[in-house]
Order: sequence, then structure tokens, then C-alpha cells
Amino acid sequence: MYKILKTRLLKKVMTRSLKPGQTSALESAGLELKKEIRRKFGRSLHIREVDTGSCGACESEIIAANNPIYDIQRFGINFVASPRHADALMVTGPLSKNMEIALKKTYEAMPEPKFVITVGDCALDGGLFKGSYYIDKKINEVVPVVLHIPGCPPSPSTIIQALLDFMKK
Ligand code: SF4
Repeated sequence: MYKILKTRLLKKVMTRSLKPGQTSALESAGLELKKEIRRKFGRSLHIREVDTGSCGACESEIIAANNPIYDIQRFGINFVASPRHADALMVTGPLSKNMEIALKKTYEAMPEPKFVITVGDCALDGGLFKGSYYIDKKINEVVPVVLHIPGCPPSPSTIIQALLDFMKK
């Protein structure tokens, strides 16, 4: 116990705050995104996230997008627990064989109109895991993907900017 406490107390902080310029860029992109979402949906955008076999870092960035620094919810984006409440499906990781049916079923459970966003290089073509014995399909071969957000992993700001660019189309 003493060893754990000592490590905790001596370890440096692993996160850092946004710089002032980054904050204003995030703020203006987020507010623009909020306006676009309101114009297109008349309300907030609800997203269901599914991890089909990632290393966990893409999820960490999505979780960070919901933390008090980025606070994506204030820009009209809510992550929901059920696909039945979702407008969009956000998928991370390569498509492992075990997750293929789950991904399909999640997509089928969503009400129309619906769309799919993939996040991270693995979600495009397997990324780091390409060629693995456990992957034989890409996500866009199972569900129709309309937006891919590249990165390994993409930062919360990249995710917000990509959503804004997509919403403007
Ligand atoms: S894209 Fe990178 S961070 Fe995301 S799941 Fe793949 S290896 Fe992990």
C-alpha cells in the first residue's frame, strides 16, 4: 500500500490543459458545430459508440471529448447507451470477427435516418492490426460508413472539427 501511495504522489500529472489559442479554436468550431446540428436535426445529435476491437486509445480520446476541458455535450452531442436512441453510430477499432454480428445488430436497432462514423486508422482498414487472423472484413463492408475520422488516435479537437466539416456538407 505504501509503495502504491508513494508512486501516486511522486508521479507527474499525465494530462495537460489546452493553450489559450487552442481553447478559442475549439470553442468556435464547437459553437459552429452546434449551430449546424441544430439546423439539420432541430435538436442535439445522439451518438452510440461501439468498439469492435480497438486498443482502447480511440475510446480514451472519445471519453476525453466528454471531459470538462472539451465538454462536447455543450456543442449538442450526446453519447447514448442504447442504439434505439441514436442518430449516428461511431465505431472504433478494427472489425474483429467476434464483433461483426454485434455491429450489424446495433446498426439494425437504430431508427431511421441513421449514419455511421468510423474513428481511428484501425476502423478504416484494420490499421495496426491489418493482416491479423482475427480480422477478415472492414467495417464499411458490414455497415455503410459516411464519415471516417483518421488518426491513431484522433484527438477530441480533430473529432469535433471532422464532425463540423461533415455537418457543413
Ligand atoms: S487507430 Fe490507433 S489508437 Fe485507435 S484503436 Fe487503432 S491502434 Fe488504437
